[in-house]
Amino acid sequence: MKIAFIGLGNMGGGMAANLVKAGHAVNAFDLSEAALAAAGEHGCATFTDAKEAVQGVEAVVTMLPNGAIVKSVYTGSVIGHAPEGAVFLDCSTIDVATARETIALAEAAGYDMVDAPVSGGIAAANAGTLTFMVGGSDKAFERAKPVLEAMGKAVIHAGQAGNGQAAKICNNMLLGIHMIGTCEAFTMAQKLGLDPQTFYDISSVSSGQNWSMTSYCPVPGVGPQSPSDNDYQGGFATALMLKDLKLAMEAAASAGIDPQMGHHAKDLYEAFDAAGNGAVDFSGIIRTMN
Ligand code: NAD
Repeated sequence: MKIAFIGLGNMGGGMAANLVKAGHAVNAFDLSEAALAAAGEHGCATFTDAKEAVQGVEAVVTMLPNGAIVKSVYTGSVIGHAPEGAVFLDCSTIDVATARETIALAEAAGYDMVDAPVSGGIAAANAGTLTFMVGGSDKAFERAKPVLEAMGKAVIHAGQAGNGQAAKICNNMLLGIHMIGTCEAFTMAQKLGLDPQTFYDISSVSSGQNWSMTSYCPVPGVGPQSPSDNDYQGGFATALMLKDLKLAMEAAASAGIDPQMGHHAKDLYEAFDAAGNGAVDFSGIIRTMN
């Protein structure tokens, strides 16, 4: 299949490379010359104009920083420029409202489109092991699925347009809350005289068990290899966790609910980010608790 890929940053670079590995012809576009050059090295054809990159393609994939950029790329360079019948896949993490609006604009112009945000970070993007949560019509989902399967290990249809984004921010709100809770539990256990490994051995097989503990332990040397073993570098940056928690709070307000724990997690990550830790892995928040 011939596919245009727009947004070849930390995530998109590896994802586009995996489409090439799966045998697709990929037209790459990014505003960054360095990102574009790297995509060229991975076998993509490179373009300096998005409108040219979408010529003659059957699918367009975007992996961009935020909703305003996603909407401007689709309205300015994709809708009406990609061939009739092309399917669009936005894999960025953006607000639910903009996702629904952009998909409605694409559909009004006769295209199928899904929102397909991911779970998994840069390592999963490079390895092709992302999980995609997909919003859109049954037809759009079936058309997008084979493209997503070349970049991930799981592709799940979450329902109508925008539901992929809804699933993503609800999941990440829960992740932010349980990471903070896990950090507090380890800090408190230690202050009460428990060895962190002993607490892990107990809690990881008890009712406090959760992903932040057993797959991503914030205490160095405990549990499987994680960013805490690498001085909290790599992994999922605090700035991105904060972005997702802000999107979650916006969505909560639009749905008329007030999730107290979600708000508190957002405030704590906002303070951690403001203290200069935006690039630090989000599990590094444990350092504020000693
Ligand atoms: P990034 O900043 O590394 O990459 C974004 C790329 O988009 C950059 O190369 C930038 O030059 C390009 N870009 C910006 N505006 C553009 C435009 N108008 N036209 C073309 N290219 C443009 O960001 P990232 O870490 O790759 O994240 C991308 C998306 O994935 C975000 O929505 C993010 O929230 C989401 N995400 C990231 C992670 C992660 O661990 N990094 C995990 C899950 C989801």
